[in-house]
Amino acid sequence: MAHTIELKKVSKYYANEDTVSMGFSRIDLNLDIGEFVAITGESGSGKSTLLNVISGLDTYEEGEMFVCGEDTTAYGTEDYENYRKKYIGNIFQDFNLINSYTVYQNVEAVMLLSGKRKGECRKRILELLDLVGLREYRRTKASRLSGGQKQRVAIARALAKDAPIIVADEPTGNLDTASADIVMQTLSKVSHDKLVVIVTHNYEQAEPYVTRKLTMHDGKIIEDKDLTGRSVRAGSESFDYADDAATLEDAYLGRTEERQGRAERLSPDEAPAASADSTGSGKPDTKPKAANVRNMRKSTELRLGIRNTFNLPAKFLLLFIVYLFVSTAVLGQYAATKNSMHQGDLLGTNPYFTNTSSDRIVVKKSDESAFTEEDIENIRNMPNIRSIILNDLGIDRGICFTIGDFYVEGSIYPVSEVTEDSLTYGHMPENDYEIIVYTDSTSDAYYSISEAGEALIDKTVVLQDMGQMQTYTFDKPIKIAGVIVNDTVSEDSDFSLYGYSTIYASETVSNDLLVSMMASASQTEIDFGGTRIQNENDQSLFTADKIPEGKAYIFEDEAYFYKDAKAVGKDLGVKVSNRFFESEAKFTVEDILTTKNIEQLTGVKKTDYDMFYNAVFISEKDFKKLFDRGYFQISVFMQNEADSEETVTALQEAGLTALVMKDSLTDMTGGFNFVIQMMTYARLLLEFIILFYIAYAVIKLIMRSRNSYFSTLRILGATKKNTDNILRVELLIMMLIAYGVDIGFVYLVRSGRLDIPEVEQLLHFLTPIDYAALAVLLLIMSLLIANRYSRKIFTKSAMKAFREEA
Ligand code: ADP
Ligand code: MG
Repeated sequence: MAHTIELKKVSKYYANEDTVSMGFSRIDLNLDIGEFVAITGESGSGKSTLLNVISGLDTYEEGEMFVCGEDTTAYGTEDYENYRKKYIGNIFQDFNLINSYTVYQNVEAVMLLSGKRKGECRKRILELLDLVGLREYRRTKASRLSGGQKQRVAIARALAKDAPIIVADEPTGNLDTASADIVMQTLSKVSHDKLVVIVTHNYEQAEPYVTRKLTMHDGKIIEDKDLTGRSVRAGSESFDYADDAATLEDAYLGRTEERQGRAERLSPDEAPAASADSTGSGKPDTKPKAANVRNMRKSTELRLGIRNTFNLPAKFLLLFIVYLFVSTAVLGQYAATKNSMHQGDLLGTNPYFTNTSSDRIVVKKSDESAFTEEDIENIRNMPNIRSIILNDLGIDRGICFTIGDFYVEGSIYPVSEVTEDSLTYGHMPENDYEIIVYTDSTSDAYYSISEAGEALIDKTVVLQDMGQMQTYTFDKPIKIAGVIVNDTVSEDSDFSLYGYSTIYASETVSNDLLVSMMASASQTEIDFGGTRIQNENDQSLFTADKIPEGKAYIFEDEAYFYKDAKAVGKDLGVKVSNRFFESEAKFTVEDILTTKNIEQLTGVKKTDYDMFYNAVFISEKDFKKLFDRGYFQISVFMQNEADSEETVTALQEAGLTALVMKDSLTDMTGGFNFVIQMMTYARLLLEFIILFYIAYAVIKLIMRSRNSYFSTLRILGATKKNTDNILRVELLIMMLIAYGVDIGFVYLVRSGRLDIPEVEQLLHFLTPIDYAALAVLLLIMSLLIANRYSRKIFTKSAMKAFREEA
């Protein structure tokens, strides 16, 4: 029958740059299951080298080695890795346990690494812990064990994958005598059905237990002594383990007696084995069987990754701090960039400023409340202020009217800006409902207006807000009092955009329009007797002349929101909200609008009946109560735009936010702004890259303490892929936790539970899509860090790492 290990004239040489030294030379040796072999000899005699060749850690240059009958002469690196996985269990002088794992987890790790499921390991692990006498320590962390206990865990671990051969180079080198003795006993027990080979320079310690002694000298085996005749192994139940010296001594004495007893009582079955020849070929012929090892399961990688994330509190905390820093920095930088790009939006309800005059500054109060008269007066008294436009939206949003067969579009300015002698035709307004129309060659209506001229004076027009699908109609008759035709303005003026004319109107008119714009920019929630309907895009509140205050008209369809469709006399709640304010009102349903009565009640043509969706008609007074909350954003025009910096400083010192139009980035159409935008993105990217390298450097430092953990896993049979995945899981979880904390913080700020206006302002433009994209970005960053790190620490082959550890 084939020997477990058979060496035929095997030699091992170490080739360095210019010299070749001999590890051992022309060794013939057979080793079998059931043997407990000690290799001794002076330092440098080749003991370790022989053990390394046997255990597949080193190659050999001459001769042949058979393992369980298999020829290993043509083995490559991968074959050796396989060989070690299947046949060899290693025990190290310095234990190589995973200190942060419990005793149980250390043994379990090997089984998981060889592809076992968690569930199928438990029974075997407890058996092994019984065998080495450590069952009651199974929940103790490896770091808290004594040296002897650690080495017994290492033995249990070496046995865990059930390899037929156990090798150990100086397994007791770091142990005191008492602990060493227990380790020897344990190895002796193990050798019942395995081949155990140890190297020791302290033979006396091993002597009572081993079945065979090999003595080496100068790369040769000079003595091969069979000790089966006198050696009696420790039986499985024959002695108790003890950890302190006193009881150990008792145990030792007891065993010695037993040994003598047993030697006399050798049964006939055992007798042939005991008297076998010195090569040991006649040992109990337990057929050597390779360990059943598979690849590590994905679920195991995941589990180990999760375990590693949390099992070292100090490391967890350090990584958490770094990741929180990275996550917060990325989130903050991104938010700041988005903010700077949307500075315009930040200041108003309208995403684009159409009036981009270089002397315009858009002003808000820092707390976004409405301006008081005192505020306005304050601003008026600041230096360099030429004029103040309260209805700031009016100069960006279009207003229009049709007269005869032409159409005029323009923005609204206060009539106070016009003087009598600038009029081309007509007169100054005599009441709040008269306007002045200004045109120059940059406006579309220029030719029509200058041609009609005098004929326009005292004509009645209907002003309409063109911002919305459902146009607001200013329902008081408006008269054109005067016309200004300016022939001297050149085409490249920066003032009027989109072919606009200018309409000078009273504050009453412009305020009405502002209220209408506010209404169309607001979200409305209507509570139809318990059924709440949100309306974000379409305007849902309209005014009707005939309706009394506090009452509402609703449509037939909406009546069905009420019980039995009996809506008249029931409550109706309205809540409006926009960037600047929220307001609420309660109404009583006065009547139900049908195609028959809509014209009579509201003045809306019955053919337009179907255009209203979840809409409600209320009185103009109530409408104003909801939306006329004052001026939240105004514009000032400077006397001298060169002094804009001082003006901005003065405004800011008064607690105001000020956006100088010429500095704003809101005109996305301009080529120059496109460049600025790209540069902003490029800067953001650069910041992320720098952040990545900083994070990587710090994480590398923190993870340095983990190098030995990962190389231990490699020694135990994990592939590089396994360890990579375990590391990835750990770092991904860290990033998820850190980002989760950030998102929690964002939630607290946005929901108003934490009142930090600066942060709220910063986060203003981030949408769920941004948060999701940032999560993906951070996870990718974390993956890249993991990959980079594992490339750095795992460049060494497993073999090399192994040898260095061993
Ligand atoms: P022992 O374990 O008995 O002390 P070793 O097996 O370590 O002896 O060494 C046997 C011989 O091989 C020694 O002469 C040693 O110098 C040589 N040797 C061991 N390892 C190496 C190596 N990595 N490179 C070169 N020579 C080595
Ligand atoms: Mg050695």
